Amino acid sequence: MRIILLGAPGAGKGTVAKLLTEFDGSVQISTGDILRAAVKEGTPLGKEAKGYMDRGDLVPDSLIMKLMEVRLQEPDCAKGFILDGFPRTIPQAEALKTLLAGLKIRLDFVANLEVPRDVILDRLTTRRTCSNPDCQEIYNIKSNPPGPGGVCKKCGSPTIQRADETEEAISFRLETYNAKTAPLIGFYGKEGLLKTFVSLSSKDTVESIKGALKA
Ligand code: AMP
Repeated sequence: MRIILLGAPGAGKGTVAKLLTEFDGSVQISTGDILRAAVKEGTPLGKEAKGYMDRGDLVPDSLIMKLMEVRLQEPDCAKGFILDGFPRTIPQAEALKTLLAGLKIRLDFVANLEVPRDVILDRLTTRRTCSNPDCQEIYNIKSNPPGPGGVCKKCGSPTIQRADETEEAISFRLETYNAKTAPLIGFYGKEGLLKTFVSLSSKDTVESIKGALKA
């Protein structure tokens, strides 16, 4: 499959993307995960991105496009990809359109995950993420808690609350989403690629997306 997952922070894009990779071997490409790994490793990209990320702001389009141009041409993308958290702005969407046309790649569709704001706020403040950059398993202290002592059940590393998941950063991220990312709904609507999924359960959303792919 070749799809984009669109949705506010906390809409469940990461969880849905991970479940979809099990379906047909398509890879999940999360710009947030790539950036967090770069910050942890202290690479030049990570050093440039860290300040923006910690305050919940978007990293400049030019940095994101540089990394996505390389990533989308890596061999594991040949089977398909699920874009999670990219594009996030109209300039990124325009640049992606040009990039995909050059690579002769057609998207199946853009899945817009619609989730009520109170559900999003609750999810974000209760989320915990595995601190191991090679794992990054996501937990929720209410519905899917980590193991005893707050360690990751998969790899045993401590789970953490991300710096951008404080209440202040979360409200800034939601404002940023409304101002810069929500206009992509109109953009992809005009492109004839938009499919909206009211998403309260990630598992149900995955089934609906699979159904739409088969149709
Ligand atoms: P995420 O895990 O997708 O919520 O991303 C975490 C943070 O990484 C965001 O708050 C941004 O600072 C940055 N980021 C991730 N993807 C992008 C993108 N496509 N454009 C700009 N910034 C991004």
